[in-house]
Amino acid sequence: GHHKATSPSHNESGRATSDAPTATSSKHAAIQEQRLNLPITKGKDALIREFRENDVTVLLGETGSGKTTQVPQYLLESNLAGNDTIAVTQPRKVAATSLAARVAAEQGVKIGTLVGYSVRFDERCGSDTRIKYMTDGMIVRELMSDPLLSKYSVVIVDEAHERSLRTDLLISNLKVIQRQRNGNGTGENNYSKAKGKEKEKATNPLKIIIMSATLDAEKFAKFFSGAKVIYVQGRQHPVTIYHSLQSQTDYVDSAMRTFFQIHTDQPPGDVLIFLPGQEDIEGLEKSVELFAKQLPQACMEVLICTMYASQAPGQNAKVFNATPPNTRKCILATNIAETSITIPGVKYVIDTGKCKEKRYLARNTGGGFDTLMTRDITKSSAMQRAGRAGREGAGFCFRLYTEDAFKAMKPSAEPEILRCGLASSLLQLKCIDQDLESLDLMDEPDRDSLISALKTLFLLGAINQKKELTPLGREMAAFPLEPVYSRAVVASKELGCTSEVLIIVSVLSASSKLFTDSSEHRDAISESRRKFRHSSGDHLTILNVYKAYQDITKSESKSGRKAWCKKHFLNERALLEAGEIREQLVGTCQRAGIDPKAEGGEGKEEEVIKSLAHGLVANTAFLQPDGSYKQVMGQSVVKIHPSSTLSERKTPTIMYDELVYTNQIYARGVTSINKGFLAGLGALSQRQA
Ligand code: ADP
Ligand code: MG
Repeated sequence: GHHKATSPSHNESGRATSDAPTATSSKHAAIQEQRLNLPITKGKDALIREFRENDVTVLLGETGSGKTTQVPQYLLESNLAGNDTIAVTQPRKVAATSLAARVAAEQGVKIGTLVGYSVRFDERCGSDTRIKYMTDGMIVRELMSDPLLSKYSVVIVDEAHERSLRTDLLISNLKVIQRQRNGNGTGENNYSKAKGKEKEKATNPLKIIIMSATLDAEKFAKFFSGAKVIYVQGRQHPVTIYHSLQSQTDYVDSAMRTFFQIHTDQPPGDVLIFLPGQEDIEGLEKSVELFAKQLPQACMEVLICTMYASQAPGQNAKVFNATPPNTRKCILATNIAETSITIPGVKYVIDTGKCKEKRYLARNTGGGFDTLMTRDITKSSAMQRAGRAGREGAGFCFRLYTEDAFKAMKPSAEPEILRCGLASSLLQLKCIDQDLESLDLMDEPDRDSLISALKTLFLLGAINQKKELTPLGREMAAFPLEPVYSRAVVASKELGCTSEVLIIVSVLSASSKLFTDSSEHRDAISESRRKFRHSSGDHLTILNVYKAYQDITKSESKSGRKAWCKKHFLNERALLEAGEIREQLVGTCQRAGIDPKAEGGEGKEEEVIKSLAHGLVANTAFLQPDGSYKQVMGQSVVKIHPSSTLSERKTPTIMYDELVYTNQIYARGVTSINKGFLAGLGALSQRQA
């Protein structure tokens, strides 16, 4: 029985009535007014009609027209979702949480009640949740426990144009699931036939809505054998675009100069600056702040807001507050603000032309891995970015690249499945008896990355020589972690040090880095961190830092903790996030029958390192006579990153978390390991295979 009772706090239309507080009712009225003014509102009835009539709908519309926030509410209010949940998937965590918060406010409910979200390591949902914003990764994970996604009567695949790996996997699965739940066009439900489950109650039918901001609907429509395509009229005002005359070498500096030109010369209106990532955002934030202090009195104030994936949720919400009088908002954002999140009030856009993109580096490495690289954006992104300036009136876009550079851009991004590591997805698919080779995908991944993923899983013992899932693989898949780290957690069970391994793995899985690393202050940094240092290397050093922070937490106030982190050049956000991740993993361990409290304790450091080495077996290297390291399973020659606690020492064998490509290849997150033990590991995975 997947059906849940309708919550008593909702009336027939599904809208909450009882818990809308009167104190905030004027705010609520203002929000309702904003809702009614969205471009999509005019098409509401027509949309509902289309959704009712079609099992699959492809909905296209300009960013900011109201697709993501309104469509789920229309479905709920018109009772098209029955008593089940509406899932709205997003490629990005921040988009899922922030849009859920907005829709909860529009419905006048607390987040986690009627409207909730579910993202990796963070969930705010209850049994009465009917609209659930979630990452595409979370819903793909849910396939493992609920292969027909029977909780959901509607799945809205949002931001489909981004073609993230999980979105592609979801779309493939939805096609099959819909056939199983809705029947093969005979109107007959063939769930029991398809799954061979005896006398299962007929499942609820599934509706699929694909939403996209760009005009590439055909591919989706074709994939769903000619699904209905609907366009929502946007309300785009003209945007004047300026290109720079020469190419800019320092886009951060150039963005700053452009911002202050706008600020001193142009009429009011907020400025949105697109940057590739957090480091650049933080850098620019500092320099804008400094420079703004030196402005003449007559100038408007500058209010800086930032928006990127790993920032604290509260910080993200700030960007939506109304700009105070005599102030210009300067919003520094990654491509999150390109199509997933619309920030009101923007009249000027500064586009650096750069973004970060995940790339899989399979070449010459044992298992291969993903790395984030700063790259030129595509034409389609450039158009989207410019469009953000014209949502409320005529706007201006300043491109920090030449017109020729624009013309040379690729039309649109390659689907992620063609450029990302596949090991983690492949493992999940194996758990539901699927395979990247047999799945009906919109684009097939290439042979090399497929082979590389199989190799990684085989090395970790997650699949055998016949490419079949092993019991170990199934155990690993229960953890929302990269396979290398879930392998370490599983290994820690036998070795009796799960508590330590969970801490290390949590810190490594956090979206921000624990150690703030700047080459300028390297000596001061290394001095202040000396007391955490463990002779074996970076992994146990992380453990020491985490434990020291836990101790501090017992005695220090919030500001004391903050000062402590600052003094030691540590990123507190990473520690807080790691704490949350650890809690989630403790839960997973308990469900998986692993004692999360099992602590190796003093003198058992070797066991912790061994556990980690089970996962990082492909990321190992031997010392060469010239002082560099040669990969055990690949051909690359690497050096230990200068930020590592081992950078000054020459240990015979190392394992590392990742490789960083600059002018040479650096191994980061390095620990010294026992060579003999490494040989044992190889034998071990062979045996398991
Ligand atoms: P689309 O999906 O078509 O791009 P959305 O539904 O995301 O459009 O956005 C509709 C409107 O909701 C936008 O004007 C946006 O500014 C507003 N909005 C979204 N999130 C928030 C928020 N947290 N606070 C205030 N307004 C928001
Ligand atoms: Mg949207």
